Formats: sequence, structure tokens, C-alpha cells
Amino acid sequence: MNFKTDHNFALELDKSDSLSRFRVSFHIPKHTDGTDSIYLCGNSLGLQPRQTKEFLNQELEDWAKLGVEGHFHAENPWMPYHEFLTETTAQVVGAKPHEVVIMNTLTTNLHLMMVSFYQPQGKRTKIIIEADAFPSDRYAVASQVKFHGHDDKENIIEWSPRTGEHTPRLEDLESILKEQGDTIALIMVGAVNYYTGQFFDLKKITELGHAAGAMVGFDCAHGAGNVDLQLHNSGADFAVWCTYKYMNSGPGSLGGCFVHERHANNSDLPRFTGWWGHNKDTRFKMRDDFEPMHGAEGWQLSNPPILSMVAIRASLDLFAKAGFDNLRQKSIQLTNYLEYLLNELDGDRISIITPSDPKDRGCQLSLAVKNADKSLFEAITAKGVIADWREPDVIRIAPVPLYNNYEDCWRFVEVLKSEL
Ligand SMILES: *Cc1c(COP(=O)(O)O)cnc(C)c1O
Repeated sequence: MNFKTDHNFALELDKSDSLSRFRVSFHIPKHTDGTDSIYLCGNSLGLQPRQTKEFLNQELEDWAKLGVEGHFHAENPWMPYHEFLTETTAQVVGAKPHEVVIMNTLTTNLHLMMVSFYQPQGKRTKIIIEADAFPSDRYAVASQVKFHGHDDKENIIEWSPRTGEHTPRLEDLESILKEQGDTIALIMVGAVNYYTGQFFDLKKITELGHAAGAMVGFDCAHGAGNVDLQLHNSGADFAVWCTYKYMNSGPGSLGGCFVHERHANNSDLPRFTGWWGHNKDTRFKMRDDFEPMHGAEGWQLSNPPILSMVAIRASLDLFAKAGFDNLRQKSIQLTNYLEYLLNELDGDRISIITPSDPKDRGCQLSLAVKNADKSLFEAITAKGVIADWREPDVIRIAPVPLYNNYEDCWRFVEVLKSEL
């Protein structure tokens, strides 16, 4: 599509957008002047669906009315509550239902997955991560290496961008594997890098990793609800994500976990266990022997916090209504439009470091600010933009197809223009 820079063009795009009706299903934070703020921070915390309160009230009322009986007799019984989330979650991440489960939080799940899928043996002890990995992922990986009695400096290999480039290349991962593939136990990268917004080719990375004899897992914190992850087809051994970013399920909400079906009954894998991962037919017989549930559910530990799951359910309901393919289609055009407007700006104070090919990114664009001048970010914040600043020099902006519109992108660029 040929875009134009005028305001009317943005309004026309919104008018012809079949998903625009979902915006009113969310609370949009207000700027101090009473207008809708320009919220471009769904990569950090997704907005609250209006129906979340109603969904929560239902469970609060059932708890008040029924007490413990709510486990079986609530309108939505708590006992199997996580199962209500399975189908739509599987659709959103491109998995089979028995490959996904909602449980714990992201970093916890990452550790649980590494307990099973990081098994250093002989000289195969190393983990490859991307150079700009999210700090929590780096800490988790390093602590696992040390837990197995190895040196983390020697055993963490960074897959880095070339000098002068912002994003790592697949052929450089290939070279690392060619040179030292027989020492790699695990590849663990962010499916969408939190800093640059680069969406990696999960299938290709998995093929390369498996060919070298390594396990492969992805942190999909910035991918789930954003890009078409196709986790099953990627062939990855495991994946983890959170639900408070693009999944709009509230601050600190529970995480998701994917275990490929080839491991569904793999009793060779070590794992940490708890009663909620035990065969649900005999769980309450309190027997001695642990008998894992089939698939991802077998990694559950505890009976889950229902109130947090309720918020996930309220959000997934909107994903199901909108259709994930439709959302992704809109997302590609929305971000292309934002990129077009940014490229039309004069001057060189900002540059986009996110890949320009839509297949290599999700909705987020990362703007590197010249001389790491944070005052630009502060100025646009004062004018009603909610985005975020990541050290050393990046403003991240993420138009989310469920609640952002073309006019948000247009307004953002107008504000930016006035400050440049
Ligand atoms: C947001 C994010 C986290 C946060 O982890 P929590 O355990 O949910 O606090 C971790 N890793 C990545 C890549 C993230 O984007």
C-alpha cells in the first residue's frame, strides 16, 4: 500500500480497519489534559481489557458464596481452570493444545525447562544466547551453568551482531556451530529480541541446533501475542513466555510454557515435580509415586492462582474473537505505516534499528537516539506519549493491533516531529 503523511489518511485507514472495534474493549490511560495518551508500550505492559473486572468479580463472588466448594462448583470450576486457557493459548503461539500450559512466571518456567533440557555432559556443556539477551535470561542461564558445576564465563557463548550492525545474522550462528557445535548443550534465544525487536527464524535456528546435537529453546516474552511463532512447526524443544506484555493479562501475571510433543512422555528427561503435574485422575489419592501428566501439563508444580488466570482468560477471549491471523495482518500494516511516517521525518537524531522486513520483526520499532540524548524521550513523554527508554540509547515503540490505531501512530510522529 502507498501511504500518505496527512492526518486524513490515518483516519481513513482506521475507518477501513475491521479490527478497530476492539479499541473500545480496553482502558486507554489518559494524558494529563484528559485526552487519550498515545500508548505505545504494550511490549512492556499490555492494556487492561474492560471485561477483566467482570471476569474477576465472577470468581470473587463464587469464592464468597462457595468457599472451597468453588473448586468444583464455581460457575467456572477452579479445579480445571487452567484448561480454559489452553485452546486459545495454543492458537496464539502455534502449538498443539497438549504442548502448552499456563503456570508460574516466566523466569521460573525458564529454570524448570532448563532443568529438563540443559543436561551438560562430557565436553557438551555450553549454552548459546543472543548478545543482547534480556538480563533475567542471562542470569538464569548463568546460574544453571554454575549449578552444574561449570564456569559461566567459559560456557556462555554470545551470538553477536557484526561490528557496525545492530542485529545478529543467522550465518554467524551457523559458524559458531560449525566451529564448536559438539560443545553446545543448549541454544536459548529470545524469539523476538526485547531491545531491537528482531524476530528470529525459529525453525532455522532449531534445525541448526538439532543438527549440532544441541537442545533448542526460546524465550517468547516479546513474541507471544505479537508474531506468528509457530512453535510446533519450529520444532523447538521448549519455549516460555509471559502474559503481561502482548497478552494483556495484568502486571506480573502468570507465564506460559511450551514443550514439544516429542517430549510429551519422555521419561528420560529430568524434571522438578509437584502435585499439579501428577495424573489428575489420581492426584487426590495422595499416592507415593509421581506419575506425570501427558505433555506440558506434566511440568506443573502447584495449584495455580485463579485470580491471575481469570485475567488471562478475559484477554484470550478477545484474541479468540479477533482471530490471531487478522491481528498479525493488521500489525504488519500498522508498523509499516509507522515506519513510513518515521522515514519521512527530516534530520538524523533518530534511526530505526529494527529490521525493515516485516517477517523479521513484530510490531515494535526501536529508535536509536543520537548521542544517547534521553531528553527527547522525556519531551515526548510530557506530551502524552507512553513508550519506554532502554539504556543506552533506545526508545521502544510498539503499536499493538488490538487497541492501537493508525491515528496513534500519526499523533506519535507529530509529537516527535515537534521535538526534533
Ligand atoms: C519481560 C521479560 C522477562 C521478565 O521475566 P519475569 O520472570 O516475567 O519477570 C524475561 N525475559 C524476557 C526476554 C523478557 O522480555
